[in-house]
Amino acid sequence: MPEKKDCMNVGVIGGGIAGLTAALSLRKFGHEVTIYERYHYAGEVGASLSCASNGGRLLKELGVPLLDTKPVILKKLIKRNFQDGETTGVYDLGDYEKSFGVPYYNLHRVDIHDLLLKCALSEEMEGIPCKLLVDHKALSVDAENGKVKFENGYEAAHDLIVAADGIRSLTREQIGNEPNFTPSTSCCFRCLFDTKEVLARGLTDYSKNEAIEYWWRGTPGLSGIDKIVMSPCKNGEVVSCYCFYPSSKNDLRMGGWNDEASTEELCGTFPDLDPKVLDLFKIAYDIKQWRLYVHQPYEHWQKGKVVLLGDAIHPMMPDQSLGAVTAIEDAFAIGYIFSKEFNFSVEDGLRLYQEVRKPRATRIQAASLRARENLNERIGWSSKENDNPDKLTITEICGYDIKEDIKNTAMKLGIL
Ligand SMILES: Cc1cc2nc3c(=O)[nH]c(=O)nc-3n(C[C@H](O)[C@H](O)[C@H](O)COP(=O)(O)OP(=O)(O)OC[C@H]3O[C@@H](n4cnc5c(N)ncnc54)[C@H](O)[C@@H]3O)c2cc1C
Repeated sequence: MPEKKDCMNVGVIGGGIAGLTAALSLRKFGHEVTIYERYHYAGEVGASLSCASNGGRLLKELGVPLLDTKPVILKKLIKRNFQDGETTGVYDLGDYEKSFGVPYYNLHRVDIHDLLLKCALSEEMEGIPCKLLVDHKALSVDAENGKVKFENGYEAAHDLIVAADGIRSLTREQIGNEPNFTPSTSCCFRCLFDTKEVLARGLTDYSKNEAIEYWWRGTPGLSGIDKIVMSPCKNGEVVSCYCFYPSSKNDLRMGGWNDEASTEELCGTFPDLDPKVLDLFKIAYDIKQWRLYVHQPYEHWQKGKVVLLGDAIHPMMPDQSLGAVTAIEDAFAIGYIFSKEFNFSVEDGLRLYQEVRKPRATRIQAASLRARENLNERIGWSSKENDNPDKLTITEICGYDIKEDIKNTAMKLGIL
């Protein structure tokens, strides 16, 4: 059985948000980490990413200076009519920071990715600086022996392998999971526009609302695929939009989310959308589109010396805006479980990880799928406390105490 050492030699496959945060967490908690990224540079795409407090608090504890990314601090969620933009509901986030310890940040993905990478490699942060090997695409893992083979011929052996290789993870199947996904009913565009240009052209400036705003065609009780999700990031200088539409419109099959699309395609897909938003679409740049896929929960989160996290193991619909922060929870958990506070073997630690993370991530995954076609399922609007127990509450998500959960679960498993 693999034993835990005080300072493990850890390999992290994938340098996205999950992999970089895991690297940072393992480093802080005393381990030596090498990150393997398939591309030359683990670049992120231009779009916003809302970072709820369950992620923000953990990044703060890991020493990540989130304010360096010039985040927008979100104040509310706004629901609007699809066709005329009339406000139909406001969820005021109130004193969110007081309730949950940190603000609800809206970040630019490129900025948070760059910052995590900088922190992982930094000489100044706690622990041994991580090593980054780019152009290292992992092809296969030997879970029992902790070995990885790469496309470039390199081979590595580690005490622990953290696979954060994203939604199309190769590692997921290699540890025994059958592929279990189907094309969703929805496709999505994303695009950006600059507030400076919005103002110069006299268009509607939504950045000043400091909100996530939704133009949704559905009505309470009815489902609706069409949805525009708009939010500002980068000090309000950039506004980002995700625009969902029925896949029956073009049955797009492209798997990536970096496929170019034109202004005409974007505007033409939503002919009856609020004209104020259509005017903004005309000045949008970085327009991309992709098909969404629905993954069912995967059975095996770990095997031998290999553990999965982030989109590699719980890919979810984007409609709760919780995929990255759930990955951040996973990443923190891996470091904390193998911190000096405990003395778990690798086997017990990974069993504990799965026991803690799987129920929570699966619950968020299911709620994200419901929220795909029903905005009223989105946290904030989803539930008053003690409403339908299937629904997520903002408190269970944003106020989650991961350390308590880990300790309580370890006691239940009889390993603490
Ligand atoms: C439209 C949309 C909006 C979203 N908005 C939010 C939001 O507001 N808030 C939020 O919390 N979440 C949001 N999410 C979810 C979030 O983007 C993802 O959950 C998160 O980025 C997953 O990170 P990851 O590191 O697991 O995967 P990825 O970001 O996919 O990273 C995987 C990394 O692994 C590398 N890699 C892959 N295979 C290999 C290999 N074989 N060898 C080496 N390297 C490899 C890749 O190059 C990449 O760098 C959104 C998602 C979408 C689609």
